[in-house]
Amino acid sequence: MIGVIFGPPGSGKGTQAAKIENAFRLKHLSTGDILRSEVARGTPIGKEAGRIMAAGDLVPDELIVDIVRGRLPEAEAGEGVLLDGFPRTVGQAQALDNMLSEEGHKVDFVIALDVPEAELVDRLLHRAQVEGRADDTREAIEERMHEYHKLTEAVLDYYSRHGVPVKRVSGVGRPDEVFERVKRAVSISSV
Ligand code: AMP
Repeated sequence: MIGVIFGPPGSGKGTQAAKIENAFRLKHLSTGDILRSEVARGTPIGKEAGRIMAAGDLVPDELIVDIVRGRLPEAEAGEGVLLDGFPRTVGQAQALDNMLSEEGHKVDFVIALDVPEAELVDRLLHRAQVEGRADDTREAIEERMHEYHKLTEAVLDYYSRHGVPVKRVSGVGRPDEVFERVKRAVSISSV
């Protein structure tokens, strides 16, 4: 079972992914978390990605696809995988399909979190105070929203056109309220 948790920055993907991981025994794979760990460890990948991330831009497709290619086999060895923050471009979605088809696998479902943009910005500015993430500044947030609309949103059309069920879920409300909706959507999609 391969699922994708999808949505704009601040929509609660990471929070919901952790809950889905527990409830459905899917292995949570977050490209943002992997990159932040590379940055913290000062690895060559971290050095390349750090500045791009802090500016709110997307790291190059090849770099992120290589990371996922390296992690996917281990993650796939379990009952399933939940991708968070990947794919973020149509090119990444195509690369993922190619990787999965080599193993006879495919993306089984996409859960897309919907949150109005004004609330997203408020949430990210609040997170800046709590977590101090380098890319939660007003300028970087603006750039991340821009990248989302320019490059990432199109991934949903890609999946719809390729027959992958895309379930849109309202991401507004307390995390456990949102999770009730997400849980229903995953249950329907994963039968
Ligand atoms: P996230 O934690 O998913 O919000 O990701 C934080 C940042 O990491 C993004 O703003 C990008 O700079 C970078 N990043 C994470 N995943 C990807 C991806 N799939 N493609 C390109 N850049 C990514």
